[in-house]
Amino acid sequence: MMKALFAIACSLTLLACAAQGAEPLKAGAATANITPSLGNEIIGGFVPFPSQHIHDELQARCLVLDDGQTKIALVVCDLLGIHRIVSEEARKLIEAQSGIAPGNVMISATHTHSASSALGKRRWEYEQKADEYQLFVARRIADGVACAINNSRPAEIAFGSVDVPEHVFNRRWHMRLGTVPPNPFGETDIVKMNPPAGSPNLTEPAGPIDPTVSILSVRDKEGRPISVFTAYSLHYVGGVGRAHISADYYGMYCERLEELLTAKTKAEREALDLPAFVAIMANGTSGDINNIDFRNPRKGKQPYEQMRYVAHDVAEKVHGALGSLEYKEQVTLAASYREPTLNWRKPTEKRLQWAKDTLAAGRKNERDMAYIYAERVMHQANYPETTTVPLQVLRIGEVAIGTMPCEVFAEIGLEYRRRSPIKSAFMVELAHGYFGYLPTPRHHKLGGYETWLGTNRVQEDASVVLTDHLLEMLKELAKSG
Ligand SMILES: [Zn+2]
Repeated sequence: MMKALFAIACSLTLLACAAQGAEPLKAGAATANITPSLGNEIIGGFVPFPSQHIHDELQARCLVLDDGQTKIALVVCDLLGIHRIVSEEARKLIEAQSGIAPGNVMISATHTHSASSALGKRRWEYEQKADEYQLFVARRIADGVACAINNSRPAEIAFGSVDVPEHVFNRRWHMRLGTVPPNPFGETDIVKMNPPAGSPNLTEPAGPIDPTVSILSVRDKEGRPISVFTAYSLHYVGGVGRAHISADYYGMYCERLEELLTAKTKAEREALDLPAFVAIMANGTSGDINNIDFRNPRKGKQPYEQMRYVAHDVAEKVHGALGSLEYKEQVTLAASYREPTLNWRKPTEKRLQWAKDTLAAGRKNERDMAYIYAERVMHQANYPETTTVPLQVLRIGEVAIGTMPCEVFAEIGLEYRRRSPIKSAFMVELAHGYFGYLPTPRHHKLGGYETWLGTNRVQEDASVVLTDHLLEMLKELAKSG
């Protein structure tokens, strides 16, 4: 009896395996404009200010893949971050409109610092109702996914990568003894975030960089590009005009890659009225990485000059890497989604008292960091004890994309890649929500901006807990393939 059951189970599995990926891949891509009206506040700095000009439009860039059994959608938005209610609302709409299960849709933010807030008007308050702009963004994401499905056609897919170390620098530095200035709490950290570039007091960076641009390239049967999804671990570039809305280097990179890939076939694409090619640049793990060469500071540049330089260089290197990729017509798609529980980090009695005293003393000026952090500490003290944290792994053939809803330190992404049982793995940060910076326990001991309560919000060993979850999810998906 047992033997018979076993045999039936095996043949069912074999059937399932044979069916999986048996149909040729279909893929479609689209963008949806998510630019807010002028006058909405630009966030990303310590003090928000109203936008006065749109330098370039903000987009939700969408790619949908379908292996005949499973559909997955990848969406990257030109935003500093998204509150989890935006992702939840968008995925609800997508399920209703397009029938893709919420766990199969990845939604992340690039981390452009020149966008309005999809984190909510009072972004330090965790529980909130979606505001007008958040609902608008959710609807536009769902529209983008629906249009990507409408644009779907038989496709081929390839994975590759290229290392571009020139533009990424670890921004946390050890400095000569006694040269790290006090933090807002009146204490001294071991390392300094964004130390003065070129300072003789710099000794060594406190962590690694991740130089790899991960590439998923999708084209139609005739070899015409549909979309290239990439992830690079660079916080952002910045250097925009005053009060400008801009997608930062992410948007310029996408435009440049489109030019490079579609220039020759423009007439043909127009004659066939093919959907536009969509490049996508997600943020990898760049919580401690930026574009400042601290050892060799560069000269001042015009607005957008450095951004364009980085965007074009990365686009050219990705374009160069595309030539050697091998495309497949069939891949197995799968997704895993979990919401493990973490503790919100709470202030100690001493820190709470410090916050109360600092607030009572009043705000000295707009950029009074002690006051700003005292407010953040009080908000954090009033959070509930625990929260659930959205995590996701998407499997695309031999590729496994893992996501976390934080500004994730580079070494966490490197560890994920190193420990992954699936050959090509990479991480996308700022997905499905915003839970602050994610340093490792080692970095918590070193201190610095990203570890300060208010910048960091979840329990101090959260990176260990979340990485273990992602790897467990990966193992399950590895078995399923
Ligand atoms: Zn940031």
